[in-house]
Amino acid sequence: MSSPALERSILHVDMDAFYASIEQRERPELRNCPVVVGGSPQGRGVVAAASYEAREFGVYSAMPASRAYRLCPQAIFVKPRIAFYAEIGQQVRDILGTFTPLVEPLSLDEAFLDVTGTEKLHGSAIEIGRSIKQRIFEELQLVASVGIAPNKFLAKIASDHDKPDGFTIVPPDRIAEFLDPLPIRRLWGVGKQSESRLQAFGVETIGDLKRFPIDTLTSTFGEKMGRHLFRLCLGEDKRAVIPDHEAVSISHETTFAEDISDREILRAVLQQLTDQVARRLRRQAAKAGTVQLKIRYENFQTYTRSVSLPVPTDLTRELWEAVRGLFETRLPDRPLTVRLLGMGVTHLHRGKTHQTLLFGNSELKRDRQLDSVRDKIVKKFGVQGLQPGTGLNPSRDTRSGPYGQES
Ligand SMILES: [Mg+2]
Repeated sequence: MSSPALERSILHVDMDAFYASIEQRERPELRNCPVVVGGSPQGRGVVAAASYEAREFGVYSAMPASRAYRLCPQAIFVKPRIAFYAEIGQQVRDILGTFTPLVEPLSLDEAFLDVTGTEKLHGSAIEIGRSIKQRIFEELQLVASVGIAPNKFLAKIASDHDKPDGFTIVPPDRIAEFLDPLPIRRLWGVGKQSESRLQAFGVETIGDLKRFPIDTLTSTFGEKMGRHLFRLCLGEDKRAVIPDHEAVSISHETTFAEDISDREILRAVLQQLTDQVARRLRRQAAKAGTVQLKIRYENFQTYTRSVSLPVPTDLTRELWEAVRGLFETRLPDRPLTVRLLGMGVTHLHRGKTHQTLLFGNSELKRDRQLDSVRDKIVKKFGVQGLQPGTGLNPSRDTRSGPYGQES
């Protein structure tokens, strides 16, 4: 029905073994070695990422670290530094953002881009995909796999098709040729259980499922799921790419490896979280009207506290003062033993907001200059270019959770 001119061009960009590749980039002695980023092999932690050398031993994300150790005792186990990976993820996103504002991040290391209609500016979708891979490699010394297709579902499968260093194009007229031979578990929504139910009917591939009567499909899986599966088999997916700058909130949180009760440490971590949130606000040219604090105690009791600001702001100092106020005065009266700490902003205002209340304030001007210098430093040297006054690097003592799974 749809004319070729209306076909969308969707890219899915997925970094290869992201956390492990960053560690190998940062520490040359790890290159070409099996590297496991995650919990210690003696502990209860899981694998957050495994380098391709480790995957050859059967080590995968989300597997207990102790199991990874049994499979590959020679692997080098590295503690994750999620805040650092997040900064590099942002550098990847900055590159993607130069091709189109329609970038939808899925996690730290993957994103969808809708490049429909940007051909005049940046060349065909294929040229854009090639440039993205090249720029990520040259500027960040990291490798990304790219899938190009008329929709998100197909683009995501395509990026995974030839990993690592993959580049897979699914043109509109070759969808069936691409999809039909793939196993049914590649369909979004088909887990282990549905897979074995379908296999009991002799359905192994997406092509098999496509020939399966839709009535049987809906009676087995329910109307909604049945129709969903049927559409996916045909390679149909109408979901739009929703850019990050339309986000309604921004937040960062840290789960500590061990519970923390030292106020100084907690304040320092909170300051760093605020710094990250503030930088993202400014990058999105947004100002926040509400500031939130999230805290989870050792017994998993979780509290969120929020405060509205008199004037929406993107200044680190104003956001910090607001969240510090919540931290000092709004927590329940009980011993402070903290498992998770988070900072967030909501009620985002975009475009021009006039700072009428504070207009001409020289302190405000200084804050703004300070923030812009910090933003430039991070852009150029990454977050490690900043030397926080507290001298505390949360990645030494904490890890963010839950771990994102990588592919
Ligand atoms: Mg990945």
